[in-house]
Amino acid sequence: MWGDRGKVMNIFVKSTLVASIFCTALVGTFPAYGKELPRVLILATGGTIAGVSNNNSAVGGYDSGKVKANDLVNAVPQIKEVANCDVEQFCNIGSQDMNGQVWVKLNERVNNALVNQHYDAVVITHGTDTMEETAYFLENTLQSDSPVVFVGAMRPTSAISPDGPSNLYDAIKVAIDPDSKKRGVLVTMGGDIFESRDIYKSDINSLYSYASRCCGPVGSVDEGVVNFYAPPIPAERPCWGVPPDAVLPRVDILHAYAGCTGDSIDAAVNCGARGIVIAGVGNGNMSKDYIDAVKRAVGKGVIVVRSSRVTKGFVNRNHEISDDELGTVASYDLSPEHARILLQLIIYHLDNEPTQKDKLNVQKCFEGKYFLKR
Ligand code: ASP
Repeated sequence: MWGDRGKVMNIFVKSTLVASIFCTALVGTFPAYGKELPRVLILATGGTIAGVSNNNSAVGGYDSGKVKANDLVNAVPQIKEVANCDVEQFCNIGSQDMNGQVWVKLNERVNNALVNQHYDAVVITHGTDTMEETAYFLENTLQSDSPVVFVGAMRPTSAISPDGPSNLYDAIKVAIDPDSKKRGVLVTMGGDIFESRDIYKSDINSLYSYASRCCGPVGSVDEGVVNFYAPPIPAERPCWGVPPDAVLPRVDILHAYAGCTGDSIDAAVNCGARGIVIAGVGNGNMSKDYIDAVKRAVGKGVIVVRSSRVTKGFVNRNHEISDDELGTVASYDLSPEHARILLQLIIYHLDNEPTQKDKLNVQKCFEGKYFLKR
């Protein structure tokens, strides 16, 4: 019985092998021929993933944002086997030079790709220095549940062993995974998948340079094999849509530290800051001098949010500082950089939709419990 079964299996294996050799010869490098591959738009913005050595050496100094988008993608031929990708050079900068003007245009491009051009997903290559900011901006402004995945690299293309190609392949696999939908904007780095609200760059050098503030990674991707640890949370996502010509208001971040004096807060207000985020010590704490300056700022109509320079935990309302008395907002789990982006969007909307003024509770926006409907 087992012998016969073995024979049958053998015939099956052999004929399958012959058929697959024949098919591979027929369609070249496209094993998924006949199946419609997902359509992915890759937007390249620069960063180390597109970096190249500036001294003819595989180690040492390099310049971000040098390699062209098409070359990045062509360096990973396996991508063609899993997705039909269109590639666009959106910009080519080190992400230290990323800014609000690029964000609003990027938001428009991604929305257009997902809503009007019906791409299945968008992958954005980006420098790791500010990737958490761009990702969180889009998290708040996108109008689609389709996957948007950010990816970067810690080593330039010219390194002895660059991490960009495998990270890019991983990002494509995450983007086309059906379980990636309705998770908002994701970031894949070094085999981890993160939600954009919860991340920060945690290591200057390591290939595993991103970490989560509170919740941990939401999944992993190992040589293109995607696993999520839990289904997406069925929450209404925020949508603070902005037009591509929007000018975001100035919001500054000011660090608290031993001996910090409030004149830096006064200076920010005098320079036109409409909002200020305090990267406080501990639970959003700050010196008495800072508190006095915050009072002055709030008195002038500046919205002040208390966040923390500590990378884990929640800044709770009315903990050691009374937000009720001071007129401040607690950032809860948002990092100073994320709180700044949310505050920019809130102030932009208050300016442009004055009817929201009475309805909109800024503190609730930071709690994540009040989201404008799409
Ligand atoms: N300075 C680079 C950038 O953010 C660093 C990186 O990509 O890792 O563009």
